[in-house]
Amino acid sequence: MNEFWKSSDWEKQNYYDGTDLGSSYTNHTTKLKVWAPTASMITVNLYHDGSSGEPFATEVMEKEEKGIWSATLMGDYEGVYYTYLVTVEGQSKEAVDPYARATGVNGKRGLILDLEKTNPIGFPKESKPKFDSFTDAVIYELHIRDLSMEFDSGIKEKGKLLGLTELGTKNSEGLATGLSHIKELGVTHIHLLPCFDYASVEEEDCSTFNWGYDPENYNVVEGSYSTNPYDGEVRVKEFKTLVKTLHENGFRVIMDVVYNHTMKTEDSNFNKLVPDYYYRKVGDKFSDASACGNETASERLMVRKFIIDSVTYWAKEYHIDGFRFDLMGVHDIETMKEVRSAVDQIDPSIILYGEGWLGGDCPLPASQRAMKANMNMLPGIAAFSDDIRDGLKGSVFIPDEKGYATGDFGKRESVKFGVVGATFHPQIDYQKVNYSDSPWALSPSQCINYVSAHDNYTLWDKIAYSCKEDNYEKKVKKNKLCAAIVFTSQGIPFLQAGEEMLRSKPSKEVVGEFVENSYNAPDEINCIKWSNKANVMDVFSYYLGLIKFRKEQEALRMKSTEEIVKRLIFLPEEKEGVISYLINGSGTKEDKTLCIIYNASDEKVAITLPENNWTVYIDGDKAGVEPLYKVIGTIVEVSPISCMVLIK
Ligand code: CA
Repeated sequence: MNEFWKSSDWEKQNYYDGTDLGSSYTNHTTKLKVWAPTASMITVNLYHDGSSGEPFATEVMEKEEKGIWSATLMGDYEGVYYTYLVTVEGQSKEAVDPYARATGVNGKRGLILDLEKTNPIGFPKESKPKFDSFTDAVIYELHIRDLSMEFDSGIKEKGKLLGLTELGTKNSEGLATGLSHIKELGVTHIHLLPCFDYASVEEEDCSTFNWGYDPENYNVVEGSYSTNPYDGEVRVKEFKTLVKTLHENGFRVIMDVVYNHTMKTEDSNFNKLVPDYYYRKVGDKFSDASACGNETASERLMVRKFIIDSVTYWAKEYHIDGFRFDLMGVHDIETMKEVRSAVDQIDPSIILYGEGWLGGDCPLPASQRAMKANMNMLPGIAAFSDDIRDGLKGSVFIPDEKGYATGDFGKRESVKFGVVGATFHPQIDYQKVNYSDSPWALSPSQCINYVSAHDNYTLWDKIAYSCKEDNYEKKVKKNKLCAAIVFTSQGIPFLQAGEEMLRSKPSKEVVGEFVENSYNAPDEINCIKWSNKANVMDVFSYYLGLIKFRKEQEALRMKSTEEIVKRLIFLPEEKEGVISYLINGSGTKEDKTLCIIYNASDEKVAITLPENNWTVYIDGDKAGVEPLYKVIGTIVEVSPISCMVLIK
């Protein structure tokens, strides 16, 4: 293997720190720049069409310093598509510019465009919804297509970005769907599953479904979500329109980003331009920590620069408010730190989080990986807590395994660990936490608490597998208890879209079975079932109430570990299956105390409160900001499989 990049001289000679990679357009010149230090020649092909026909012109690029090739096109090239014919070691291949800002259909050719013309009216000066602290976030994880594809969604632009801009949509029973439904729910951030250009959906007919974790063009909006995938400008306008509409409706927008691997390996655009540079290899083989065929080498300077440039491009050009890093553990710590400082210069309230794990063996030393265990080196970045996820419902890898909220009380310490947002707390026995033997979050803002996401079974389906003996009512109680724990815990709560409506993905082949990782399953499995909303209004109202309550109680959104240690006190275990704790007032404002009780047992339990005269806001049936009833003495009875929150 030719590891040419390994010498520090090579990196020094070939690292380019300019901000002008890709196309720089004006109405009289367009400058193209691409980094390809090992190439012997590059020619630009210019096309009138985004996918078919021969080039109408070609332009030989000039080699500059630092591995850069450039071409200056005189005249107005707006709307012209282009590719690079790059020759390395005598072989010539046609590649799309990794910095392309738009493409034709199916991402085959880059587009030169005037980005100013893609701005909706008022977009450059629009304002974002207020957001003071990361722990104020409530994140809703949504796939563009899932939102609207059902027959009863009431949404016109089915499967499109614009479907999420439609307000006032209803199902046939007159209940809110789509964006209006999400507004009712009251989340603060909408996390969109991959919306950059991915490879697996044929954009001309959109006949298949995919989650989109198979990157093709990182700085381009996915064409199948656009109303016209042939005209690269349309998707840019439509995504900006979506972001603006979501901002106007009080939401911040998070993009799921997948820099850890590319769909193609040998013939990816990266590898055509600079063979072997962008990926880690073990011997002659591409390493595969992503379990998707390759892994990018973020520790190499121009790969790192690409990731930082791409994130900051989305943040600046599209006003994106947050990024979720797929398999963040594949990336090196230094890269993630530099991403944080780069977005801080744009907007420090941009939220960053990721999966603090890997999908396979990785040659990068464990100490350098952006893993959950290394979060102490990544302030300002959060990781998903699989500890609380599986602590609540059982391992995602063992369908019939129960968790604390579904009947295995042995997992209580993992839930307590989630309650304190994976931070240090003197009342937690870390040896009993399922996946972590020590706190991994420096502050609660580094911990994403959740019980379901797009991966694995939905929460409702997981309960179906692990609680086969239970009737519907009991399963609903377990689902509600899971949600109540996530939304009352310290840290950042996150839910999969539809969890608030008992989302389910029943198999079409086997009755009683469910689809686990539905990444390429048909729409009928994946889509949100608005036609079922009327049947689950009780659950929906409960989620809505939990979110409302959380937003009103600063005690549930503490900012520091020190504050949690000082104010949050676990009460002695009175009965197996019960977790109870107090959160004392902050001492600065109207001094209220919260008492939070989780009863996962099948029996009603009597809990002794430290004082008398409490008001209940959340119980097994209802949640919200209106008082439900008072508890006069010091004994409170908590229903089987339920959460109770009292305030004094
Ligand atoms: Ca695509």
